Amino acid sequence: MASPDLFQNVAFSDVSAAAVPAAVGATAAFGVGAATGGPRLSLVKAGKPEVEPTVEIDLSDAQIFKLGPSEWLCVCGESEAKAGVEEKSFSRAIKVVLRTEAESKAFSLAFQRWKQQVISGKTGEPLENGSIIASKSKFDTKIEASSAKMYFHYYGQLLHQQNMLQDFVRTGTYYAAVMENRSDFADRVVVDVGAGSGILSLFAAQAGARHVYAVEASEMAEHAQRLISGNPALGQRITVIKGKVEEVELPEKADILISEPMGTLLVNERMLESYVIARDRFLAPGGKMFPTTGRIHMAPFSDEYLYVEMANKGLFWQQHNFFGVDLTPLHGSAFQGYFSQPVVDAFDPRLLISPPTYHTLDFTTMKEEDLYEIDIPLSFVASVGTRVHGLACWFDVLFGGSNVERWLTTAPGSPTTHWYQLRCVLSQPLYVMAGQEITGRLHLVAHSAQSYTIYLTMSAKMWGVGAEQGGILQTSTGKLELKEPYYRLSQPQSYMLSQDQQQQQQLPSLQPQGPEQQMQEGLSPGITTDQVDQECGLH
Ligand code: SAH
Repeated sequence: MASPDLFQNVAFSDVSAAAVPAAVGATAAFGVGAATGGPRLSLVKAGKPEVEPTVEIDLSDAQIFKLGPSEWLCVCGESEAKAGVEEKSFSRAIKVVLRTEAESKAFSLAFQRWKQQVISGKTGEPLENGSIIASKSKFDTKIEASSAKMYFHYYGQLLHQQNMLQDFVRTGTYYAAVMENRSDFADRVVVDVGAGSGILSLFAAQAGARHVYAVEASEMAEHAQRLISGNPALGQRITVIKGKVEEVELPEKADILISEPMGTLLVNERMLESYVIARDRFLAPGGKMFPTTGRIHMAPFSDEYLYVEMANKGLFWQQHNFFGVDLTPLHGSAFQGYFSQPVVDAFDPRLLISPPTYHTLDFTTMKEEDLYEIDIPLSFVASVGTRVHGLACWFDVLFGGSNVERWLTTAPGSPTTHWYQLRCVLSQPLYVMAGQEITGRLHLVAHSAQSYTIYLTMSAKMWGVGAEQGGILQTSTGKLELKEPYYRLSQPQSYMLSQDQQQQQQLPSLQPQGPEQQMQEGLSPGITTDQVDQECGLH
């Protein structure tokens, strides 16, 4: 097809106006309206120049309905303001008949695509999402509307996008992974799943992508459009589409998906599910995914200081005479409440008491449903005799490029990222001897508020005489809410400070512009949290 936005030899008629004859042999063209700057459909009668459309439909408030295999009814609002007279609003309905069924399908796709598109140059004015899809999308059926509203409101703000961009380990690793694997992008069609500011789309365009579709559901799509329009050499190969990846339609299949869908513990925010849905909807068979796989790593840890800190928080409720009131009936609940918060901070890897194990998620093959419940059996051997206070977790993702395989890791001891690490602290610690086996289970159950409930069980097998007869000596369990972590980042972080030096040595030849400036301005690239971000518990 010459252009996916142009349809020749169509017939159209204005069925809302009486006695207007049908035009045949006409042209239907999607594009940007000169007057509105928004998306429009022009219908041009045969023999007329395109600059004189017979009918112009503003797509931002238009809808189409299928009348037959190759017939559509476009309905739009129209208003007429006659001099001095009050404004009149009415609906207009135009019937459009295409030549073939294939063209008819392409016409409806083009209609939806243009309707959803955020048009370059049209700044500040939010466009409606496509209202074509009548039934609830996969996203809407499983996610509570109030959670989604807060989530996309959060990502609609530049300060939160900035926080991610300034995580130099994160952004620098994506940049390196793309640039080291140019051949995976050059002349390819790319979809950026959850484009945010559009940074990964711009990286893909820098690597020579033929076309990038930047899909973003939040109001950030408007900013992304502005950023992309402001970088025209790259931007002319990028189309921003505002909408959820579960809902928008794209005009062609992608050779590669790029995305940053990772939350705390990899799975928080449930965006990996959107990434997998985007794969099934947009990726051509055999296409690539950046990142390709992810791993959740786990190891038991011992941190007496952290345990005492958590236990002490509930001490308030042990007062018998608080303004004459006995608070102790609530001590148990308060104590459990503190331990239901996973702790997010950067810790010294020397606190780990066993070599870690990991659980792999292969984004290229897994089913979306595999993320609803993740059940990981645990088995470790303690290296030292100590008290075990819980399970420490972190993640990494792999960019399986054709040229270079690059990992982005959030491990303790590696340069700190804005994800830090996560620790599930048990309210009842276990006691182990060196060489003793620790078993258990980490069970993650997704919920409709875009996060997970964590069920942790850890047991220490009996040791010494009688162990052969079996029986587990101690078991400790915890139920934690991943959506409500405790951000423990206010202590002096001597350990984290030493890591800035490591970061400066990273990626020497591939550093994009900026890190040195950031350092001078006192922004530590790896640790750029601000309190608001921490409290929201996102990315
Ligand atoms: N790619 C950007 C932003 C990553 S944050 C970067 O790397 O800097 C994740 C983004 O995905 C957010 O902007 C969020 O609004 C968007 N997002 C999350 N779920 C989405 C969905 N289902 N459809 C479209 N966008 C989504």
